[in-house]
Amino acid sequence: MEKFIVGCDIGGTWVRVAICKLALKGEQILLKKERTLKEDQYSISGQICKLLDLLIKENNLKREQLLGIGLASAGPLNIIKGIAFNNANLGFREIPLKKPIKDIFPKIPLYLINDCNAAVLGVHCFEADEQEKDNLAYITMSTGLGGGVICNGNLILGKDGNASEIGHIILEPNSKNACNCGTFGCWEVFSSGTGIKNRTLDAFKEGKLNGENLLKLVKNNKSEITAKEVFQAARDNDELALKMVDNCVLYSKIGVGAVNNFYDCNSIYFGGALMENSEQIIAPLKEQFKIDPIKYTINRPPELKISKFKSEIGIRGALAYIKYKLEKNSVVAFCSN
Ligand SMILES: [Zn+2]
Repeated sequence: MEKFIVGCDIGGTWVRVAICKLALKGEQILLKKERTLKEDQYSISGQICKLLDLLIKENNLKREQLLGIGLASAGPLNIIKGIAFNNANLGFREIPLKKPIKDIFPKIPLYLINDCNAAVLGVHCFEADEQEKDNLAYITMSTGLGGGVICNGNLILGKDGNASEIGHIILEPNSKNACNCGTFGCWEVFSSGTGIKNRTLDAFKEGKLNGENLLKLVKNNKSEITAKEVFQAARDNDELALKMVDNCVLYSKIGVGAVNNFYDCNSIYFGGALMENSEQIIAPLKEQFKIDPIKYTINRPPELKISKFKSEIGIRGALAYIKYKLEKNSVVAFCSN
């Protein structure tokens, strides 16, 4: 009987469930996705069980064929207790993930991991080359800003599974710009999708910069502004939008420099919705770390790359995590949950 592994990726907008053979050949990934249910704290686990049952039925599989489940979720998490908590996008103070799924699929090993920590495993498994894969970081620039790191060939998890929360490095301690995490002046406040939108609205209030082109794009309705429109207006030389993109890039130089100082990476891969505008973000970062790296990092600069898997890197990472756990791959040797 052929054996399969399961990956799940829980985000603020989408829940994805995938089944694949253990060998993890990309073309064989069977995937289902739905908008994240937020009715009560058990909605998400119920949704995952439902999607997994559908995948099993539609592909004429039996539960006995499933070797294990890799469950990646937006954090913060407690991977030992098996919960997500205080997540602004998922809602609810505490969301039980492990137990309710275990109750429905009791015989299948299940491991929980932060989505960005999963994503770096996705890069490790599906796209990094031999020379770079032991010292690797993944940075998502999306609604929020997060990361995952493999250092000396080991995935870094931390005590609760929340290591590499790089979006919350405080870059401006005296900033009045509040972050979702509860403090002020984090990297996420300036360079994430939410951050760019909020800083843009602030700049309109301040009224010093000309944002006419940006306003035209949203037909004068400022509540329609997202990072997407800001990047588009910047390409049309809108003064206010250009300043916002400059800020996003400046703080990203500091953040990426810090990540390289901490982890001494061979390569840093980027993903997330803001990579639709990678020419405006990654190109100037590359330029900086090529021409004058020492301004932002003391360590030899890393290669900066964009993950080719876009929004699927999380689910691929969840599959990679369960594969590595089952095969006792040394990359996840210290992941004890
Ligand atoms: Zn923060």
